[in-house]
Amino acid sequence: MKRIAIVVASLIAITVNAQEKPHIMLVMHGGAGTITRGSMTAEMETQYRDTLAQALKTGQAVLMKGGSSIDAVEASIRILEDSPLFNAGKGAVFTHEGKNELDSAIMDGKTKKAGAVAGVTIIRNPITAARAVMEKSPPVMMTGRGAELFATKMGLEIVDPSYFWTERRWKGLQQELLKEQQRQANPHASIKSDDETRHGTVGAVALDAAGNLAAGTSTGGTTNKQYGRIGDSPIIGAGTYADNESVAVSCTGTGEFFIRWTVAHDIAALYLYKGMTVEQAGNEVIHKKLEPVGGDGGAIILDRKGNFAMPFNSEGMYRGWIGPDGVPHVEIYK
Ligand code: ASP
Repeated sequence: MKRIAIVVASLIAITVNAQEKPHIMLVMHGGAGTITRGSMTAEMETQYRDTLAQALKTGQAVLMKGGSSIDAVEASIRILEDSPLFNAGKGAVFTHEGKNELDSAIMDGKTKKAGAVAGVTIIRNPITAARAVMEKSPPVMMTGRGAELFATKMGLEIVDPSYFWTERRWKGLQQELLKEQQRQANPHASIKSDDETRHGTVGAVALDAAGNLAAGTSTGGTTNKQYGRIGDSPIIGAGTYADNESVAVSCTGTGEFFIRWTVAHDIAALYLYKGMTVEQAGNEVIHKKLEPVGGDGGAIILDRKGNFAMPFNSEGMYRGWIGPDGVPHVEIYK
């Protein structure tokens, strides 16, 4: 009888342990915007899906080997930075002057350490530079030449600015410059910017086997940006945030709104202080707060139990997730 009781007790303990053990999870986005089935060729769609799946699998492999959530965020974002498809790294959009100025941030939910670089032009993988800032320097954020000098000293891969030139993004800039001229000549006409050229910002949120959260975001910003404009992506609390007490968040959308509404931190605060779920907190900010004021975009949100949400108020958002089973799930449209 006593033996049976011991066996039952240990079985219960195993079940409880299995339930309590955090399951690894990686959620990613590749930007939000006017992404519709009509605006996409089958070939393009396959390329986006395959690249996102590859990034998800890369990050998942890191987590399965016991790597940290920070390692997974960096590894998965590097895949998207190296692809010309997304508005980050290689595929970054052009500024008004025809340059590529990249922004990125990373945050560790366990330590609340964070690192960011903004307006950098020669660092191949800005997410790795953001991580170096986080781990190897007292400042949280570095910009322009200073950040580039630091990255060079840290031995990161430096490229000629021409590495970031792609025909698609160059054409995107020419279209925007034309629209700008038309607007100046005809101030009352409503000539909208084409956000096809902008919706590629990438981001990742991860939960590792030790139960720690991390978030990262990387972007080329907005096509035709001027005067050293910096968006929300490298700003902790706006486009990127992670805290083990609440959630990890990475955003994409019109950065000015995400900065003013401190979107990433607001989502975390609703989860922490109001006890909202990841879905509720995401919907509250992305739909109820941003949508009425015209702040278009979305976010990915992940908590320590592996619950995640991917709200967006645009037509589409490149997004996906992968858990312990190693099967990548990729979605694009509503
Ligand atoms: N949030 C980015 C920025 O404003 C752009 C985007 O996500 O599409 O720089």
